This record gives sequence, structure tokens and C-alpha cells, in this order.
Amino acid sequence: MTHPLLDLAPLSAAHFASIEDRVARLLSTEQDVLITQGEALLPLEGAIRGAAGPGTTALNVITGPYGQTFGDWLRDCGATVYDLAVPFHTAVTAAQIQEAFAEHPEIDFVSLVHAEAATGNTNPVAEIGEAVRAHGALFYLDAVASIGAEPVLPDAWGVDLCVIGAQKAMGGPAGVSAVSVSARAWARMAANPHAPRRSYLSLLDWKERWIDGGRRALLHAPAQLEMLALEACVVRIEEEGLDTVMSRHAAAAAATREGVLALGAGFEPYVYEASAAAPVATTLRTPVGVDASAVVARALAADPSLPLAAGGGALAKEMIRVNHYGPAATLDSVQSSLSALRAALAEG
Ligand SMILES: *Cc1c(COP(=O)(O)O)cnc(C)c1O
Repeated sequence: MTHPLLDLAPLSAAHFASIEDRVARLLSTEQDVLITQGEALLPLEGAIRGAAGPGTTALNVITGPYGQTFGDWLRDCGATVYDLAVPFHTAVTAAQIQEAFAEHPEIDFVSLVHAEAATGNTNPVAEIGEAVRAHGALFYLDAVASIGAEPVLPDAWGVDLCVIGAQKAMGGPAGVSAVSVSARAWARMAANPHAPRRSYLSLLDWKERWIDGGRRALLHAPAQLEMLALEACVVRIEEEGLDTVMSRHAAAAAATREGVLALGAGFEPYVYEASAAAPVATTLRTPVGVDASAVVARALAADPSLPLAAGGGALAKEMIRVNHYGPAATLDSVQSSLSALRAALAEG
């Protein structure tokens, strides 16, 4: 018996390349765009291991949990790492980046998370990119939680390695991801004797055997279902219009911030300044004595389909996340989430 998810015709190299081209258009980039066959952690780790080594001096910006992970990978590669950590309720500024350059002029790599779904903040990448370009460092950006929710412009911002995943604001699959790579970043990797090769983490393998070969032969069997889902999700964004998709996220975020104050009882947006709040997801701080994870559990017991979660780790007590992204980036979804939180509080 045939099945809609099985018995598909093979995905051709030309089809694979055309999906890469669609993703490149979504990023308004002329750089090489590689689709990577795994969740976004694959290119996030592959790009760091490809570009960094014992000769690297990295400025690693920490505005949430992912920054911590990037620092660990960089140290594991032998790089000298200066961490710049800012409180999770704020964003980093270009001035703070410039101060770090003044203190450590040898910095030649900067890692930054654009928006953090886990903490609800977003960083001013355009301004930071200017500072990084003026200094001459390679610029690595995790845009997984920003793509689709706010502009992501690697070329305009001078980003050398820009990683995206489809599972957040793009409303797409989680098992496939992409990275745009500048000529400078390829040169850095090619000169790095520690860059992974003949490895699932290797971006250079794809450069040499896929891109340089004119994208005629894939390195291995493509993740066909994920590729088709990625294509469908980019086509859906093209049809709705990227600007409309981003506006939906901005409106959902604004409505959530307003609604938080109406919850009363000492609830407030976790990220103080609206300009530092990510359009992809809004985080709330619960009042002292109100356990965020208990409130979320009661709200989800009433309606498991709501895009609610408690903060991760130590934040589970004080942070509620409204993950109004992808199909949940609607005012309806925000209203239902806030009503459920109100009811859960009344119950508690
Ligand atoms: C969501 C996200 C990722 C990908 O992680 P998953 O939890 O596996 O979806 C990577 N970076 C950032 C900043 C994210 O928000």
C-alpha cells in the first residue's frame, strides 16, 4: 500500500539546490547557503568547529542559554574566549562590543545569538555588525529564533556565518536547518587545520564536494521529508509575504506585553525594554511567591494546545514563556494564552 509520507520519488540535486536558493532569497543574501541535514545545533556547532581553533580569540556574547553552549564549543576548539554576559532581561549594545574590542584588540571572532526564544530578548545586530566589521572579526550569528519574526540580513549586517532553523517563526520542520557562509568564513575554515572533514559536522565537505562541484551531486541521501517540509514552509512564507509574517509576530509580542500588565498581581514583562523584547516569544516574570511552572502546568492542563512553557532550569520558578511563533503568532492565540494564565492564577 502506498502512503503519503513514504514511497516518494527521490529528491534530486537540482530540487535540493532550488530549496537552498529559496532560503537564500529569504535571507536576502548572495552568500553561499547550505542546507544542513539536522536540527539547527548541527550547523551551529559545525560553523564554530570549522572556523575556530587554537589560534582564535573569540568574543562570546551571552544573552541566554545558547551563548553559554557556544562558549563551551569555542573553548573545546582551543580558542581563547572572552565571555560578555549581559542580564537576560536586557540586550547587549554595540558599545559593549566596542569596549571588549578595545580591551582585547586580538579578538578575531564574535559569536552572538540574535533573538533568544528561551529568554525573550533580541539584540541590535545591525549596529553590532558595524562594530564587528570595523574591527575586522569574523561574525557568527544564531538567527534560529529571529528568522521569520524580525529582519535577518546577513549581507547588510556583515554576518559571516548566519544559522537559521525553520521550527520557530517560520512554522516549519525542526529536523533541517541552514547556514549562510561568506567568502571570508570559507577562507578561515580552509586555513584551519582543525576544521572537521569527512564528518557530519563538516561544512567544508559540502563546500568542496557540493558547492564547488556546481551542486550536481549530493554528499549523501537527503532528508527528504524535512526538505519537502522546508520547501513548503518557505513557499507558504513567500505567499503570505515575509513582511506580513514578521508583522504578525510583532503584533503578537506587543499584545502579550500589554496583556501581561492587565494580568495584574505583580506580573510584568521579563525583558524590561520593549526594544529589547524579541518578536518571536514573550517572557513574563511572575510575582514573588507565584511558581511559574505550577501556573503553566495548570493552564496547560486546561488546554494542552496553548503555546505556553515555563522558563528552563533555574528560571522555571519565575519565568513564563508565551511562544507565540509560527502558526501561534496570532492575537487569538495570545488572548487564549493570557485568559488561561488568568484562570490558572485564580485556581492557584
Ligand atoms: C530554538 C533555538 C535553537 C534551536 O534549538 P531547539 O530548542 O532544538 O529548537 C537555537 N538557537 C536559539 C537561539 C533558539 O531559540
